[in-house]
Amino acid sequence: MVLITSTSEMQSRALQARSSARSIGLVPTMGALHEGHLSLVRAARRENDFIVVSIFVNPTQFGPHEDLAQYPRDIESDLRKLEAEGVDVVYAPPVEEVYPAGFQTYVQVEDLGQRLDGASRPVHFRGVATVVAKLFHVAQPHQAYFGQKDAAQVAVIRRLIQDLNFPLQLIVCPIVREPDGLAMSSRNAYLDPQERRAAIVLYRSLQAAEARHRAGERSGEVLRQVLVDCLSSEPLVRVDYAAVVDPDSLLPLLEVEGHALVAVAAWVGKTRLIDNLLLGERSILLV
Ligand code: AMP
Repeated sequence: MVLITSTSEMQSRALQARSSARSIGLVPTMGALHEGHLSLVRAARRENDFIVVSIFVNPTQFGPHEDLAQYPRDIESDLRKLEAEGVDVVYAPPVEEVYPAGFQTYVQVEDLGQRLDGASRPVHFRGVATVVAKLFHVAQPHQAYFGQKDAAQVAVIRRLIQDLNFPLQLIVCPIVREPDGLAMSSRNAYLDPQERRAAIVLYRSLQAAEARHRAGERSGEVLRQVLVDCLSSEPLVRVDYAAVVDPDSLLPLLEVEGHALVAVAAWVGKTRLIDNLLLGERSILLV
């Protein structure tokens, strides 16, 4: 496994791999790796000849008062985990390598980028779309792996790939959870023991909505209210959003007829967590 910090070196390695007819799998991450990230790496490993994992805490996707400075970073431990997974290249550029002086070109996925997390975090998806577009150019993947954990991000990236004609396949991997159901996240490290216990309510709320749907409830608003009621029952938790939306457009559904994305974001103390599940039949889960 090689660690590359230079963008030009990364790009020439990727072009080399392409010219020797090896398929490239890319897993973009912000590091502080857990089993959720590693599930993406394993899927990429199974399906490609040359695996690139990027580790980059992307400043442009954080708002001015968000947790960019505190975001957990542990490159040594990340490298050990990725080596054990048989990764070929870790691309971990410094910020100046991705955003050199004079940088001014951004990618904006207009309406989608303002929905769900984009509504709460106005610059977030502009930063995500920009860095992901750059990663696609630099790492030249045939397949790029993203987690269903970030469902709005998946919708934004899918749109980005279509709109800008990136010649690659998006692979969406299922959410990996702790034994009690909490979705794994690098931000779970911020939770104190009491908050950690409270955080399980996000998944509980999704399960409650799923149970109501299974029992025949089809009103998007009623299902949304199930989420809000469940989240509000936990005093340490403050709801950011609770939504029942179309998984591609991220627009609210009045009636859940086919598939639906049920998504929540909530503050647990000072930590903002997200979680979601898909209702109805859906063919995007390829792994
Ligand atoms: P991050 O480092 O948080 O930017 O995440 C990098 C990638 O890992 C994203 O595509 C996430 O959706 C994915 N990911 C994060 N947590 C999980 C999880 N618990 N299960 C599956 N994928 C995840």
